[in-house]
Formats: sequence, structure tokens, C-alpha cells
Amino acid sequence: MKTKVIFVTGGVLSSLGKGLSSASIGALMEARGLTVRNLKMDPYINVDPGTMSPYQHGEVYVTDDGAETDLDLGHYERFTNQITGKTSNFTTGKVYETVIRKERRGEYLGRTVQVIPHITNEIKRRILRVPDDKTDLLIVEVGGTVGDIESLPFLEAIRQFKYDHGSDNVLFIHVTLVPYIHTADEVKTKPTQHSVKELRSIGIQPDILLCRSDRRLAPDIKKKIALFCNVDQAAVVSAPDVKSIYHLPIVFNEEGLGDMVCSKLNIWARHPDLTAWRAMVERFQTAEDVATIGIVGKYVHLVESYKSLNEALVHGGMTHRSRVELRYISSDELEKGRYDSVEGVDAILVPGGFGERGVEGKIAAVRYAREKNVPFLGICLGMQMAVVEFARNVLGLEEANSREFDQDADHLVIDLMEEQKQVTMKGGTMRLGAYPCHVKPGSLAHRIYGAEEISERHRHRYEVNSAYLEDLSAKGMKASGTSPDGQLCETVELEGHPWFFGCQFHPEYKSKPNRPHPIFEHFVRAALDQRRRREAVDAEAGEGEAQLASSVLQVSPGGVSPES
Ligand code: GLN
Repeated sequence: MKTKVIFVTGGVLSSLGKGLSSASIGALMEARGLTVRNLKMDPYINVDPGTMSPYQHGEVYVTDDGAETDLDLGHYERFTNQITGKTSNFTTGKVYETVIRKERRGEYLGRTVQVIPHITNEIKRRILRVPDDKTDLLIVEVGGTVGDIESLPFLEAIRQFKYDHGSDNVLFIHVTLVPYIHTADEVKTKPTQHSVKELRSIGIQPDILLCRSDRRLAPDIKKKIALFCNVDQAAVVSAPDVKSIYHLPIVFNEEGLGDMVCSKLNIWARHPDLTAWRAMVERFQTAEDVATIGIVGKYVHLVESYKSLNEALVHGGMTHRSRVELRYISSDELEKGRYDSVEGVDAILVPGGFGERGVEGKIAAVRYAREKNVPFLGICLGMQMAVVEFARNVLGLEEANSREFDQDADHLVIDLMEEQKQVTMKGGTMRLGAYPCHVKPGSLAHRIYGAEEISERHRHRYEVNSAYLEDLSAKGMKASGTSPDGQLCETVELEGHPWFFGCQFHPEYKSKPNRPHPIFEHFVRAALDQRRRREAVDAEAGEGEAQLASSVLQVSPGGVSPES
């Protein structure tokens, strides 16, 4: 095997940032000139996360080749140049599905099918199919926390993997927690010791420990961890909290992680060139401006469920040396007619979503943005709601709706395609992955992309009903992007509005910190312009008021109070 492999496990508790660590290791090794791939193995039994609630599992990340995957793949693509795909994420469910199918076909020749070796062999097969002949380094993140029952077959498989391929080729990195305890005014190493003990009891000796903490670890703490956990002191790496996640590759480099990986895996690589990462962090730290963007949804405050979207907005801000302040607006509030939360935002975004709750509030948000000339971006469901709003309030089709929410509505301006109407299964029945889109010259879409042929990722069942396109267009809502055959409407925009754009696809999946997606670049720009406009109007109003006040004062020489 030419490719070297790093396994990243997690200890103590979840949410330690194993995914970000795996992505940052990828970035750091890419900066040394290596070609990297990442893989995420998830111990849950769902065949893929496609049918899981984003509120439980976080965002479903969609790849170019149409796989519905774990959100960590988003980190991998944002931090490195790889394009992930169907083979970059698998679950216990997938592994068992394959093994059981094989068993039914009689491929095990009557033998008893067991976790070891059949499940573990299938896991190893799925790891080995990820790298191609160009891959120097494969970074495999093992989901879950060491000590969970579910992850045991994965840990056994990676133990065997190192046994099969040798310690020159395989490295174990364990991400653990070193908490600071306020009352003792110390950081504590015991959770790390216990977690490593757990790993060693199943035959895995970690080579490197990535210690998550709110601070960098002092040398004596590193020494203590090294001694108790049986690793080199230099292999105890601090992973302190950082203000921007894009700082991580730089921090890891300063901690000597890259050198350590190269020396343990016997890799000859140049010094890392982190210029682009440093520039990014610098742009982030020196942001001069701020735009407030209102995101309207049901549970939009759960950042995990809109991971890529939130990152894409940050990227959009970074290009303009600006911060974006995200204001989460509950669609329920708008539904009840309360608009205070949208007042004063510089732009409104209605993201993708499924299910009826909160839909009327989203439609109200679109109306507000359209009528008050507030920059608006609607993504997937957000675009569909923009079309429904326009049909209802501009075309006068009061009963306009999407089939998703009312299949008996008089005007199904958002509908299923004919072949979709026959489908009854839930998993994997959507338009998924990359589709080409043709952009009309002269449109806002064209100005955004600077190209006529684009490709974006989809994840939806419903489409704009083309029977209504002509009427929509006649009143000013144009389909500026369509499928190459012109059949499917992919983007809409409004004539005479400062910035109003809806897209049926999810641009956020493809935004990177060093290559922000043009839609978010333009959207944040529009928000910044809006803020300035608003400030100018406020200033003018303020001046007007001041003038009025002084003129009142001038005409009241007799000591009459200005109010009189
Ligand atoms: N629920 C809508 C559909 O299935 C939109 C999906 C989305 O926003 N990703 O078409």
C-alpha cells in the first residue's frame, strides 16, 4: 500500500471537534504538498444520514455524486482541495447491509457470519477503496466516542489495519479533553488517562494525542500526560479553543503536529506553506465592517443543522473584510404577525428545509424583503417560498402553494415532477448531487457567476411548476437559471429590487474560506450596501429632525419651550 493512513478517534465526550481536527490535519499535510483524502466512519445503524433529522444529527452534507452524508465531509471539503463522494462516508448500517446481502447470495459458502472477521473485513475493504494511486495520505475519522458499544467493530477493524499494514504506514491520533477546573485553578489530565486506558484495553496504543482544552498545555502537563498514556512528550499536542476554526491548521503546525506525523509515518515532505491560511485568519481578525443577516426558520439557532450555510456566510464576509452577524428569526414569530425581529436586519435569508411548520412565517419574511427592498436570498425551500409568495401577492393567486404543504391547493406553483409522483419510499428519492445549470446572460445570476454554465448541488423533491413561469416573468419574477434543456427552473430573481435571488440548489456546500461562493460574496455585499443605505437615511432623518428642532428653537425667542 502506497498510501499512508491516519486514524482519528475521539475520547471522553462527543463534540470535541474530531471532524475539524481531521480536516485541519488534511489542510496541514496538503500545505506540505501531499495529496490527501478523508473518510468518515459512522457507528450508527441508519444506512446514511439522509433520513435523519438535522436537529439530531446536524446538517446532511450532499456531495457532487449525490451522496447524503455526514456534515464532517463539509469540513473536509472546506479545508482541503479534495472532492468527497459516495465512498467518503459509511455507517454501520451500510456495512451490515453489504454483509447481509452477500450472505443471502450464498457468498460465505455456509460459514457462520460474524462480527470478526466478516464485519471487520467489510470495514477494512471500505477503507481501502477510498485512496487512489495519487493519494499520499488517507485520514479516517472514527465517529462516536471510545467506550461506546457501537464503535467497537470499527476500533477492532482499525487495530487489525495497523497489524496488517505496519506501524510505518498507519498512525493512531486520539482526540481527548483536558478540562480546566475553575475551583482547583488547574487543567485535569485524568479524563485523558482513562480514555487512553480504554483504547489500550482493546489493543490500540495512540501515537499522538490531540488535547482539546480552553488553553495551550504547559510542558509539565504534557509530560504528565505522556508518561501516563505511554506516548512521546512531543506527541502530546495542544488543541486550544480558537476564535476562527480556520486558525486550526496554523495552531497544529506551531504545535509540531505536521513534523510529528511525517516523522512517525516516514513521509518526506516539504515545509508547510500556510500563507493562504494566515491571510485568511488575518482577514477574519481585521474585519472592519459588519452586516446583520436575518435567517428565518424553525430551529435555525441550531448551528449544527446549518453548518455549511453559516460557514458560507462567514466566507462571504471575509472577502469584504467584514463580519456577518447572524440573527436567527423564528418563523413562528412572523407567522403571528410580529416583525420586530426582522426590522433593522441588512438582509434576509430563508434557507432550505422540509415539512410544513413555519412555512407561512417564511412566506411572510419573503414578502417583507420584497416589499421593503431588503436584500433577499432564498435557498431551495427558501426559493420555493419566494415563488409562492409572489404568486399569491403579486399574481393574485391566493391559493398558491407547494404540493409539499397542500396537495389540493388550486395553484400548485411548486410541484412534483411526474415520475416523482409514483415514488413512495423516503430514503434517496430526491434530486441529489451536482446538476448543470444554464445562466441567462445579463441576469443577476450571470453577474454573480460571471459564467453561463455552472454546476451546483441539489437535495429536493419539488420543483417550480413551469406552467406558471410565463405569468411570473410577466410580473417581474424571472427564471434566470434553468436546466440545460430549459425544463427546470434553477434560479429566480426580481426585476426592480436591489438584490433578490432564489436558487433551487444549495450553493453553501461548495463555499470555501479561500474560495467563497460568489452567491454569498454578492449577498453579503448587498447586505453591506443596504446597511449603508439605511445609515444614510437615518442620518438624513436625524439631520432633518435636528434642523426642525433648531428652526423651532429659532422661532421661539420668548423662551417658549420647543414643543409648544
Ligand atoms: N422540501 C423541499 C423539497 O423537497 C425543499 C428541500 C430543501 O430545501 N432542501 O423540494
